[in-house]
Amino acid sequence: MRLRCLKGNSICEIKRFYADHPACSIGVDLTPTGLEDGVVKSHWWWDLSTRDFAGLDPERTVAVIPVAAVEQHGPHLPVRVDAAINAGIIARAVELMDVDCPALVLPMMPIGKSDEHLAFPGTLSLSHETLARVWFELGESVHRAGLRKILFLNSHGGQPQLLEIVYRDLRVKLGMFAVSAMWSAIVELTDLFGVEETRHGIHGGRIETSMMLHLHPDLVEMQRAENFIPLSVALEREARFLRPEGAVGFGWQTQDLHAKGACGNAATATAALGQVTVQRAAERLLVLIDEISRFPLSRLTPHTAYSN
Ligand SMILES: [Zn+2]
Repeated sequence: MRLRCLKGNSICEIKRFYADHPACSIGVDLTPTGLEDGVVKSHWWWDLSTRDFAGLDPERTVAVIPVAAVEQHGPHLPVRVDAAINAGIIARAVELMDVDCPALVLPMMPIGKSDEHLAFPGTLSLSHETLARVWFELGESVHRAGLRKILFLNSHGGQPQLLEIVYRDLRVKLGMFAVSAMWSAIVELTDLFGVEETRHGIHGGRIETSMMLHLHPDLVEMQRAENFIPLSVALEREARFLRPEGAVGFGWQTQDLHAKGACGNAATATAALGQVTVQRAAERLLVLIDEISRFPLSRLTPHTAYSN
């Protein structure tokens, strides 16, 4: 699918449009895909009119909120990485969606909670209180539109804990079926990047650098990419349980893991690896959306074995 940017004169591939033309949203000239019963005319939330929302089926429809971060990613990558990767996966997934796929993608919330990167200029960060409030109120907006299923697609490892609090709140207070997923948790990566890199290359390493070489090669400075060996490698040799994160974790700042702010072997990244990763993530996202869509809302119940 291609979109016309009415402000400019270009017709953009949808991937480039979503990543590079967020300000042009008003001018989107959507390629019509039909509007029969149960078929949304667009998979982008903001392309629908308020009338269109009245016809959506809350049992089937899944509102997808991409949540990202704008934070330093070492000397070789822009602070946009987590937002760019999220936009790239979402854009590919929308390209792959059938017209009757019941997904509606909200505009991305690009700024997240990135307080582990505060020592590095360029990082934008919201407090956990503010961000939880923003995400919850977006959930309320989805609920007000008559929908009950929501998926937070996350691309920043520093905020799954906060998403767990928000999705439980949406269940308790609004009765919603709220789900969150870190993109990298639904994709097999070890066959592409190796076990070691997948475990230790958690930030600006081979994985994220490869994805950026595929999505935004003009923004990657490969001459500055190194094998950034993080503290977690030494800890793995020295300690049985103590790790920066996982079953046992501690409150690290990124400079504790590596002074240059990246973790992983960025020097071996390739655009080809990045393309496969984005494709896999998009395909897995469609599977997850389908599973959420088929989950019966009746499974969420206010009743217990002891209530009337
Ligand atoms: Zn990242």
